[in-house]
Amino acid sequence: MRINYCVHCFAEITPDIQQCPYCGVVIQEWVRSLDYETRLIHTLDHPLAAVRMRAIIALGKRRDSQAADSLVRCALRHPVDVVEGLEIVDSLRCLHPERARSKALACLAHGHPAHAVRQAAAHALTAMADEKPR
Ligand SMILES: [Zn+2]
Repeated sequence: MRINYCVHCFAEITPDIQQCPYCGVVIQEWVRSLDYETRLIHTLDHPLAAVRMRAIIALGKRRDSQAADSLVRCALRHPVDVVEGLEIVDSLRCLHPERARSKALACLAHGHPAHAVRQAAAHALTAMADEKPR
């Protein structure tokens, strides 16, 4: 049997279910009531790494800085997932405006438990400083 996840609480539900028996959300209504950016940010809480990864990449492409804090929290929630952490650093590099981006990168450069992620965030900050006009 195929398993889906509730779009709101991420409980496992069967694909035919229209209202989640755990949180009560009506799936189609929930999807319609939120914009795409908000749903992507919400997906960062998904239990499956592959689903989170798609949201991380999509958020980087959208470049909207409102995702910055949620991306940082996602990286810190999964400290052993270095691949995810590095992808989050890549997505953070794309965000505008720059202020939100550097704050988020600085947070990971100092606070992420994985050395590789701290280093990537620090490199991204250095690269940004070098790009600034003098
Ligand atoms: Zn639910």
